[in-house]
Amino acid sequence: MDKIKLYNSLSRGKEEFIPIKAGEAGIYTCGPTVYDFAHIGNLRAYIFADTLVRVLKFNGLKAKWVMNITDVDDKTIAGSKKKFPDLGPMEALKRYTEMYEKYFWEDLERLNIPRPDRTPRATETIPEMLELVGALIEKSFAYEKDGSVYFNIKKYAEKYSYGQLADLDLSRMKSGVRVSADEYEKEDVNDFALWKAAKEGEPAWDSPWGRGRPGWHIECSAMSEKELGLPFDIHTGGVDLKFPHHEDELAQSAAGRDCQKPVNYWMHNEHLLVDNKKMSKSLGNFYTLRDLEEKAMPDGRQGVNPLAFRFLCLQTHYRSKMNFTWESLEAAKKGLNHLRNQVRALTPHLEAELPSGSSASKCREFEEKFLAAANDDLNMPRALAAAQELLKSGIPSEEKLATILHFDEVLGLNLAEAGKQEEIPEEIKALAEKREAARQAKNWAESDALREKIRSLGYEIEDTDKGYSLRKK
Ligand SMILES: [Zn+2]
Repeated sequence: MDKIKLYNSLSRGKEEFIPIKAGEAGIYTCGPTVYDFAHIGNLRAYIFADTLVRVLKFNGLKAKWVMNITDVDDKTIAGSKKKFPDLGPMEALKRYTEMYEKYFWEDLERLNIPRPDRTPRATETIPEMLELVGALIEKSFAYEKDGSVYFNIKKYAEKYSYGQLADLDLSRMKSGVRVSADEYEKEDVNDFALWKAAKEGEPAWDSPWGRGRPGWHIECSAMSEKELGLPFDIHTGGVDLKFPHHEDELAQSAAGRDCQKPVNYWMHNEHLLVDNKKMSKSLGNFYTLRDLEEKAMPDGRQGVNPLAFRFLCLQTHYRSKMNFTWESLEAAKKGLNHLRNQVRALTPHLEAELPSGSSASKCREFEEKFLAAANDDLNMPRALAAAQELLKSGIPSEEKLATILHFDEVLGLNLAEAGKQEEIPEEIKALAEKREAARQAKNWAESDALREKIRSLGYEIEDTDKGYSLRKK
């Protein structure tokens, strides 16, 4: 197997990926908090995680991909109260989060991100969370106060290194500003809540410390361990989750299970900026996938195919900041159309017997280039360049097509679809027949009028020696 190199936030360097179990990889991705539509910065993180899983599979590894759904936290509770004031807190939370979870899966589908193998919900993992909190108390890494349970960072730091992932100095943190705005009582400002005592009108579960609900960090520790066991291979998320979320996840899993290294590789994608600014609702530059699909583009046309956004994301390395502009999206849309046209031009061979991509010797050079780029910490800009070189090469189109479709297993741009002949609606076919009859009758005015009509419906008719052909504009 080829070497796969991944940048590990824990060691702050690229490392060869060595799976815990040969031939397999376990990946945990921090999923959405389902209180609103995902914004394009969130979606960049899921495109990155999907690309990682695709690259691992491309290398022949069996991947188990887990993505959680955070369906209980401050934001989901606040949103559900507002949306369903007349329902009980549990029912309101369920209805509210189910709605946004559904939208989330729709977004992923449109971005050609397959549903991960396991998608646990926080509210369905409460027993595992309680068990882990109990273990932390028993080992004296956590304490109870007024029905809430807190993680004791001082105690943890005696045996483990707090701040190792985020590269923080604990002594400086203590003298510095409060990092948490948590209103609960705790012994040290840095300590964080594992379990929060129930408040009036909020959803709550029974626990040994009274009714309450889990803290956000414990949710991910419990769900990742439940699905993948400890230690597991790779944990991904946006760079904004590195601290405190991932640092605290690491601490909980390490201390609760006497496991110095619960996760071998921590991978983080960089921020997405809009016009070089941080995306925020107050700046009015906060976009969802629906906004991209609906907004009029600079060329005056309606929005874009979501895959143009995927294509745009692939053009920037995941560890670089990505600056989103409408112009860059427009360029990606054109680029993707061009790529699809290039593939379409190869399509008469689509139905033919395809040679296996890697065995076609002439393609091997391009295959190697593509794989080397993908395996170099998911360098997709370089992988796309290799795909372009292949398309421009003089290789026979059948082999070219097989190879580009093989690459698309990593790119996820649905290029096979571009190659398929489009279904022409019956209505258009009938108009074309009518026009052909008018032409035969040398009724040119009628024939031209019908051509215009077909055009206005989005199809182009071309006359050839053998009759006419129809295609979508
Ligand atoms: Zn998480």
